[in-house]
Amino acid sequence: MCLFCKIVNKEIPANVILENDEFLAFHDINPKAPVHILVIPKVHIDSFNEVDGSMMQKMTEFIQDVSKEVHINKSGYRVITNIGDNGGQEIKHLHFHVLGGAKLKWEHFSDSDPQGHF
Ligand code: 5GP
Ligand code: ZN
Repeated sequence: MCLFCKIVNKEIPANVILENDEFLAFHDINPKAPVHILVIPKVHIDSFNEVDGSMMQKMTEFIQDVSKEVHINKSGYRVITNIGDNGGQEIKHLHFHVLGGAKLKWEHFSDSDPQGHF
């Protein structure tokens, strides 16, 4: 069972912010911003590559609810999901990083030539 499934099953503790039947939001253990929350589906889905649109519709509303719960909906925030090796996904259970609480940086993500891929 993956790490995030263990958090869903309460085998590993997490600092939960919001949950419903389908989704769970909890603080990232290694925050990269003053507010850094992870939002996951309770069922195991490997990544954004595998999620269907109907779940994303509900996930979107849940993430919006999380942003209100921690009072970053007006100041602004960033939602990120890492996919696969190049995306830097370490935990292979779909999760959205919700980052905020300060003005976030926006920098180059790679030293590679931005035009090089095409
Ligand atoms: P990824 O790199 O897969 O997109 O993000 C995984 C995230 O999970 C990282 O930001 C990391 O800090 C977080 N993380 C790893 N292990 C744990 C844990 O046991 N508990 C919590 N709350 N977060 C974790
Ligand atoms: Zn899982």
